[in-house]
Amino acid sequence: MSQTILVTGGAGYIGSHMVRLLDQQGYNVIVYDNLERGNADAVIAGKLVQGDLHDRQTLDSVFTSHNIDAVMHFAALAYVGESVTEPAMYYRNNVTGTQSLLDAMCQHDVKTLVFSSTCATYGVPEKLPITEDTPQNPINPYGQSKLMVEQVLKDYATAYGLRSIALRYFNAAGCSEDGSIGERHDPETHLLPLILFEALRIKSGGNAKDTNLMVFGDDFDTRDGTCVRDYIHVNDLCSAHIQAFKRMQKLPELGAEQFNLGVNRGYTVLEVIDACSEITGVDLSYNKVARRAGDPPMLVADASRAMNELQWTPQFADIRQSITHAWNWFLAHPPE
Ligand code: UDP
Repeated sequence: MSQTILVTGGAGYIGSHMVRLLDQQGYNVIVYDNLERGNADAVIAGKLVQGDLHDRQTLDSVFTSHNIDAVMHFAALAYVGESVTEPAMYYRNNVTGTQSLLDAMCQHDVKTLVFSSTCATYGVPEKLPITEDTPQNPINPYGQSKLMVEQVLKDYATAYGLRSIALRYFNAAGCSEDGSIGERHDPETHLLPLILFEALRIKSGGNAKDTNLMVFGDDFDTRDGTCVRDYIHVNDLCSAHIQAFKRMQKLPELGAEQFNLGVNRGYTVLEVIDACSEITGVDLSYNKVARRAGDPPMLVADASRAMNELQWTPQFADIRQSITHAWNWFLAHPPE
C-alpha cells in the first residue's frame, strides 16, 4: 500500500515541488497550508487542507482522518530581511507553529519528520566550506528560529522518540523542468527571480538603464566584493527529502539528524547576473546599493555527508540548469 506523507507548506515554492515529486513516486500526499503565502493552484497533486500550524483542531482532524506515515515540514516564513524587522512573526510561525505540529504528531503517534532547516543557522562561518559540525551562530532571527527548532527536535527525539532529519538548505533555485510549477513569492525578494524579472522587463521593451536590479553590497571580502551563495535546484532539494524519509524507515532507531543540502560550489551575485545574461540573451544592468541587514558574505556547503549517508546525488548541480528552468517558467508565467 502507498505511504501517506503530510506536507506542511505544500502550496509554497519548495513544498509544491515536493508534492509533485512525491506524487510522481507513488506516495499519497496531504498538503497542510494556511495559504497566507502559498498558492492553492501550485498544489498539483494530493489533497489540500487549509489550516494554520497553530490551529490544533484542524491539525488533529488531519491526523485522525488520514493514516499518515511521516511529515515533511516546509511551512515557515523564510525572508532574512523581514525576519530582522519582524522577529515576532518569525518566532511565532517558525518556532511555536512547529511546536504545535510536533505536539500533534506525538499525540497521534506519527514519529517521523523531515524538517526544512537552513544554512542561515551557521551565521558567518569561520571556515568554508560549511560542514554539519561548523558552529551554528545565526545572525538573523530567521536562522535563529530554525536553529531553535533543531534543538527542540533533539529534545523531542530523546524524550518522545520523535525521529527527525533536519535538512539545512543552501539557496534553493530553479523550477520543475517541465514547467508545470515554479517560483511565486509575493513579495519576491530572492536574487534569481529578481534578475529574471529584470530580463523580462527589458525583453518586453524596457530600457536597460532604468534597471530595478539591486546588488546588495560590493565591499564583502569575496572575489568580486559581492556575496557568495551555493545555489541548489529545488528538485534536488526534494529528492533529498525522499532519501531522508527512506533512511528513517530503514533505521528506526535514529534520533535527530542534520544534513547540509548544497552543491559544494559558490557563485557571487555578479556571477549569477552574468549567467542569467548569457542564458536569457539580455544585457542586464544593475545598481550597487548598501548591504542588506543580516547577509553573511559567503555560504558554501560541504554536502558530502548527505551525498554519502542519504545516498543522494544532485541531478542539476550546474546553476545554468536552475536558471534555464526558472527562465522558461517566468517566460510562460510573467509576474503580474
Ligand atoms: N541579493 C541582491 N539583490 C537582490 C536580492 C538578493 O544582491 O535584489 C543578494 C543577497 O544579498 C544575497 C544573495 O543575493 O547575498 C542571495 O539572496 P537571496 O535573497 O536570494 O537568498 P538568501 O541568501 O538571503 O537566502
